[in-house]
Amino acid sequence: MFTQPIKLINQTLNKKFNKPFNQIFTLFTHLSTHLSTEKAPKQSVYQIGNPILRQIAQPIADTSDREIQQLIDAMLVTLKESRGVGLAAPQIGKSLQLLIVASHPNQRYPHAPQMEPTAMINPQIISHSEETEKGWEGCLSVPMIRGLVPRYREIEVAYTDRYGDRQVAKLTDFVARIFQHEYDHLEGKVFLDRVESSLDLVSEDEYHKLLQVSKVS
Ligand SMILES: [Zn+2]
Repeated sequence: MFTQPIKLINQTLNKKFNKPFNQIFTLFTHLSTHLSTEKAPKQSVYQIGNPILRQIAQPIADTSDREIQQLIDAMLVTLKESRGVGLAAPQIGKSLQLLIVASHPNQRYPHAPQMEPTAMINPQIISHSEETEKGWEGCLSVPMIRGLVPRYREIEVAYTDRYGDRQVAKLTDFVARIFQHEYDHLEGKVFLDRVESSLDLVSEDEYHKLLQVSKVS
């Protein structure tokens, strides 16, 4: 179900290099992650209450701009060290339309599918399923709280990758959830705004107790 979390429709890189897209993408991502650990220091994550998290992020005009590439590297490092599955530029103080989706299983999200971290510039939701699903979310900007948030189960998105190519992709389930969560940050929203009832909020400790129960049952 989660073996191919991002299904690219317009595989521009594939055409250019005549190689399986995933191989090239993995190479680029590993290279950038490797470089970034040397160059880009982990950034502190802004927390709820900071006005920047409520601003509408600005579009990025030039993806090749050195500052944008450095910002992507800094976000990749910050995400890796925070063990998060997604991050939006406003969370590290840059009100720009840039997000990273990086689903992988970890202590905070033990059932997450594995994928290479993907930087998405000027992202858009082109279409979405009628069907929504509630699922647990947390946020590096909202510490110690988890909430049950309704999201579209399937979305079609467009974005510019860090190499300047426009991509279109279909995202489903948890990866679609991460995208929608991060996309909200670009519109000045946090997951708490989408929770239907305060009864759908729990502490991090209570969330982990719930996970234990779901493992048993
Ligand atoms: Zn968040």
